[in-house]
Amino acid sequence: MFMKFLLTVAVVALIWFGFRFAQRLAMQKQAPRDQAAKPKPRFTPDPDGESVRDLVKCPICNTWRAPNLGPCGREECPQ
Ligand SMILES: [Zn+2]
Repeated sequence: MFMKFLLTVAVVALIWFGFRFAQRLAMQKQAPRDQAAKPKPRFTPDPDGESVRDLVKCPICNTWRAPNLGPCGREECPQ
C-alpha cells in the first residue's frame, strides 16, 4: 500500500519536472528567433534637427523646456 503511494508521488513528480524541462527547452528555442525577427528599435535623430533640441533651464521654476515652447505659465517666468 505504501509502495503504491510512493510510486504515485514519483510519477507525478516525474511528469511535473518533465513538463518544466520541456517548457524551458521551448523558451530557449523561441528566444533567439524572436530577437532575430524583431531587432530592437533604435533612436535615430532626423538630420533637420527637429527631433533633437537643446533645452533651456528656467531660473525661476527650475524646469527644462524647449525654447520654442514659450513661457512655462508662471507670471515671473522670463521665457
Ligand atoms: Zn519658468
